Amino acid sequence: MPVSDSVDREAGTETDSGADGDDRPEGLPINELFYSLQGEGTLAGVPSVFVRTSGCNLRCWFCDSYHTSWEPTHAWLGLEEILAEIESHEADHVVLTGGEPLLHEESVALLEALDDRSYHTTVETNGTIYRDAPIDLASISPKLESSTPTPERDPKGDGEWEQRHEDDRIDLEALAALVEDYEFQLKFVVTDAEDMPEILALLDDLRDAADVPIPNDDVLLMPEGATRDRLAETRTRVAELAMDYGFRYTPRLHVDLWNDAPET
Ligand code: SF4
Repeated sequence: MPVSDSVDREAGTETDSGADGDDRPEGLPINELFYSLQGEGTLAGVPSVFVRTSGCNLRCWFCDSYHTSWEPTHAWLGLEEILAEIESHEADHVVLTGGEPLLHEESVALLEALDDRSYHTTVETNGTIYRDAPIDLASISPKLESSTPTPERDPKGDGEWEQRHEDDRIDLEALAALVEDYEFQLKFVVTDAEDMPEILALLDDLRDAADVPIPNDDVLLMPEGATRDRLAETRTRVAELAMDYGFRYTPRLHVDLWNDAPET
C-alpha cells in the first residue's frame, strides 16, 4: 500500500525531523504499509506487516528508506485506517519501522492497539529515543560513525546534516533504557573491519550503563548494502567478522529476494 501516493500534501507539513504537528488528527505519518517477509534479524523469514513511518532524526548517507529521512513524504493515516489495513493481511507479526518510529508519540497508541489484538510487535529503531510501550522485540540499530553524511557521501551533496547527525546518533541513556525494558537485538550495519572498534567500544559503554546482560548472541552484524550488487561486496567480509568476534550475522533477505524494490 503506497500511502504516499494517495495523500493530501496540503494537509500539513512535517518538521525537519518529521515529528508530529499539533493540528494533526489522531494517526501517524506513514510512508508505506505492506505485507512481506521480515528480512533482517532473529525473525528473518517471518511473514509480517510493515508499517513504515515517515520522518527521522538522523540522516545516514546509506539510508535505504530515503523517503522517510532525506525527503520525508507528508502522507498521513488515522489509527483506525492503519489497523484495518494490518488486519487485512494474514500475519501475526507487525514491524513498526521508519524512519524513526519512536519520534512519534502516536506510535505508542498504535503499539497498544496491536497488543490488544495479540500481535507480536517489532520496533525497528535507531536507539536514540525511548518510549514506554508494549514492544515485543526492540530491534535497535545504533548508527556508527560510518553512517555520517559527510559532504562527500551526503546524497544531497551539501553536508548540511553532518554535524547534527554526528551529535545525535548515539544516546547511551536511551539505549540502556531500551535494552533494560524490552527483549532486544542490537543490529549494527557494518561495511568493513574498520567499524569493529567502534562497535566494541559502544558495547563496553552500554554494558556499563545498562542493568541487564547483553550477550553476544543478541548482537547482530548486518552487511551494509541496499542492493544485491552492493551486498555482494559486503556480506562475505561481514559474515567473517561475525565469526571472528562471536557475534550473530544477519542476512538482508528482502534484498536477496527482491533487490531494492519498494514495499519489500
Ligand atoms: S536512522 Fe535509519 S531511517 Fe534514519 S536515516 Fe539512518 S538508516 Fe535511515
